[in-house]
Amino acid sequence: MSVIVTALRDAPRGPSLSAMAASQALAREHDHAHHHGAALAAAAQAALEERGEQWTSLRASVFDVLRLDRPASAYDVTEQLSAAQGRRVAANSVYRILDLFVASNLAQRIESANAYIANPHPGCRHDCMFLVCDRCGRATHVDNDAVTEQVRAAARRAGFAPERPVIEVHGLCEACSAATVA
Ligand SMILES: [Zn+2]
Ligand SMILES: [Zn+2]
Ligand SMILES: [Zn+2]
Repeated sequence: MSVIVTALRDAPRGPSLSAMAASQALAREHDHAHHHGAALAAAAQAALEERGEQWTSLRASVFDVLRLDRPASAYDVTEQLSAAQGRRVAANSVYRILDLFVASNLAQRIESANAYIANPHPGCRHDCMFLVCDRCGRATHVDNDAVTEQVRAAARRAGFAPERPVIEVHGLCEACSAATVA
């Protein structure tokens, strides 16, 4: 199932406030934590190994170049990795690793940008939503199970078996809206 919601430019508040409120609500329901840096790599490794997959040095390096706030295409990831390693890394290997990361909840595909972003909560699954800035390309990760469960329920009412809601909201991030007003 794919739902692309576009333009929320007239939202009364910046996306980061509502994103924060949503993740705080989620955190009350279970131990929902967003990781950064070394803690994130450790959580990613644990989630991958739980699936019986190995955290190889190439997989660790691909995870290192993925960012939390800005999606990168498979091509970008290959280029950055090749630059970081000082040698040509095969694009096919990167594609396979990105597929594995998405299947294992270590990364997410931003469908409307045809790009990938690291998942700050590799240990727990949600139908993550993304607010994608059309000006700077930043993607803000939002978790709100109440919203995505309604989307799934609407699909089921229509006799559809929902596999994965894709909710990507396009518009301007807080910084870009502020720059536009100034
Ligand atoms: Zn969670
Ligand atoms: Zn999420
Ligand atoms: Zn922006």
